[in-house]
Amino acid sequence: MSRNSFQLLDGNALAALWKQKIKDACASFKQKPCLAAVLVGNDGASQSYVQFKIKDCTDVGFESKLIQLSEDTTQASLLETIEALNQDTSVHGYIVQLPLPSHINEQTILAAIDPTKDVDGFHPLHAGRLMLSLPSFVPATPWGILAMINHYQIPTEGAEIVIIGRSHIVGRPLSVLLSSSAKYGNGTVTLLHSKSKNLKAHCLRADIIIAALGKPGFVTADMVKQGAVVIDVGTTRVQDPSSARGWRLKGDVDFEHVASKTLAISPVPGGVGPMTRIGLLYNTLEAFKSLNP
Ligand code: NAP
Repeated sequence: MSRNSFQLLDGNALAALWKQKIKDACASFKQKPCLAAVLVGNDGASQSYVQFKIKDCTDVGFESKLIQLSEDTTQASLLETIEALNQDTSVHGYIVQLPLPSHINEQTILAAIDPTKDVDGFHPLHAGRLMLSLPSFVPATPWGILAMINHYQIPTEGAEIVIIGRSHIVGRPLSVLLSSSAKYGNGTVTLLHSKSKNLKAHCLRADIIIAALGKPGFVTADMVKQGAVVIDVGTTRVQDPSSARGWRLKGDVDFEHVASKTLAISPVPGGVGPMTRIGLLYNTLEAFKSLNP
C-alpha cells in the first residue's frame, strides 16, 4: 500500500473477481445450486435487497426462488413455509429476509431453519459453532469484510481493532472472528456500542476501525489515527434531491475528511455491500456442495 495516498478497498472490483470464481465453480456442476428467499411484507429496502440477491444468483449461474408473503402472514404460516423449504430437495440454501413484521418472533423463525440450508448463518447452531471456531456458515457481512481484509492483505495479528456496533449479524460475529486464532484473526478487538464511554479515545488508538452502527458520517477525522485502516459497513438512505430516486446511501464514516488520514478505506456504496452479497453466494455454493458431495 502506498504511504502517500490511501488505498481504496474496492468492493465492486473484488466482488466481480469472486463472482467469476463462483461462476467457474458452478459451470462444472450438472445440477445448479438453488437459493430461495422468503420475503414477508412490502418494505421497500427489503424488496430491493432480495431483488439484488436473485440477480446475483442469475449472474453466477445459480437457480433461485422468491417466495413473497403478505405483511399479515401469521407466524404459524411462515413456519409452514420454512418446513416446506427444509424438505424441498431442489433448494440447497435459503434466507428469510429480515426484519420481519413485529407480530412474528424473529428468533423462533431463525431457529426453525434447517442449519444445513441456513446460508445467512443466523441459526443459533452457527452462532455457537462460530464462537468455538468450528466450521459454520459465517454471516454474509462479516464474511465479506474478512474476504476484503484477506485480499488487501491488511495485517490483523496483534492489531488494535475497534468495531462500532454489536449486532448479531455484523459487529458481534466479526469481533469473534477477528479475535480468533486464525490467519485473518489474532487481533485485539474492542467492541463498542451505544453505552460505551470514551468512544473517541478507543477509536484513536485503533489500527483498524470497522464502523457498523447505522449513523451516517459518525466517524469523523478527529477520531481516526494517521495511517489507520477504516472499513465502513453503514448504509443509510439519506435525502438527495440531485439523485433520480431522491436518496443516496451514506456510510457511517465521513469519507471526505477521513480518507486522507487512512492507509486504506472502504467507500459507501461500493465497499462492504457488494462483498456481503458475495458472502451469501459463497455460503449457498458451500451448502450445495455439502448436500451434493
Ligand atoms: P443494528 O442492529 O441497528 O445495531 C447497531 C449497533 O450500533 C448497536 O450495537 C448499537 O448499540 C450501536 N450504536 C448505535 N448508536 C451508537 C453510538 N452512537 N455509539 C456507539 N454505538 C452505537 O445495526 P446492523 O444491523 O449491524 O447495521 C449497522 C449498519 O450497517 C446499518 O447502517 C446497516 O444498514 C448497515 N449494514 C450494511 C450491510 C452491508 O452489506 N453493507 C450489512 C448489514 C448492515 P446498542 O447495541 O447499544 O443498541
